[in-house]
Amino acid sequence: MKYAVIDRGDTLSKQLANQFIQHANSKGLQHNQQEPNIVISIGGDGTLLKAFHKYISQIDHISFVGVHTGHLGFYADWKADELELLLEKMCTIEPTIVKYPIANIELVTKSGTFHYSALNEFTLKSVDNTMVAQVNINGEQFEMFRGDGIVISTPSGSTAYNKSLGGSIVHPSIESLQITELASINNLVYRTLGSSVLLPKHHYCDIISMKQQRVQVSVDHVSTMFNDVVSIKCFVSDQKVQFARYRPFPFWNRVRNAFIGIDSIT
Ligand code: NAD
Repeated sequence: MKYAVIDRGDTLSKQLANQFIQHANSKGLQHNQQEPNIVISIGGDGTLLKAFHKYISQIDHISFVGVHTGHLGFYADWKADELELLLEKMCTIEPTIVKYPIANIELVTKSGTFHYSALNEFTLKSVDNTMVAQVNINGEQFEMFRGDGIVISTPSGSTAYNKSLGGSIVHPSIESLQITELASINNLVYRTLGSSVLLPKHHYCDIISMKQQRVQVSVDHVSTMFNDVVSIKCFVSDQKVQFARYRPFPFWNRVRNAFIGIDSIT
């Protein structure tokens, strides 16, 4: 098995990464940062997002494992003091591979077309004034959006920014994208649906810019400013992200542990 390690860059994560590499090599695992089968992310959810984007071109051949050095993360579920246990399992058992949907985005600007994939979500946000954009679903006009912005999240990203906006939490077995509004203007003149919308696979959504406006386009943790966006197409990717599970941790247990806590259930 070839493995790579990505750490958050802080002292503890770096230390743990070095320890892991030393122990893994002594057990005969092959350290290969370029073409790994397994990527160990040490840090938090943000580190796993970075690892996902670093290896996006090899995503079909790689499985991820997340180790957290702070609080329990959604993607980072192994604790720092469990690295030895993780290593032992990597050497002795075959993991269950769990696959989660990801989102594809085609961003058309006056200066070119860009393609991105998102593990959590894609966000379009106004920078100066109210963002005005036409939202089409499957090529048909759905609504004219005026407000702060729009978030399109994957099922595993539904527990991130989408949740803070009141969107639903979606099990990753449901191949879908969720469209959630950021402070839409709703009055006698302007109207949007107001609820978040779940699009199944093979449906798509176009967001068409209706004026010259500066917008911030974020793909997971990376944001870029544009002033010449023409349109953005979002759809469920044919590819999936893969996680190597060396012990079971069902999605709803993650949700419970991250947001409700096991101690608060009586
Ligand atoms: P970060 O690593 O500090 O992440 C921010 C928080 O989001 C952390 O607590 C992290 O554990 C949590 N998180 C990330 N992915 C998650 C997921 N799938 N489910 C549940 N929680 C998750 O910051 P970053 O590196 O910039 O991460 C970018 C992410 O931050 C974005 O993908 C977005 O989802 C999230 N975000 C959230 C808000 C908000 O909730 N108001 C605003 C902006 C960005």
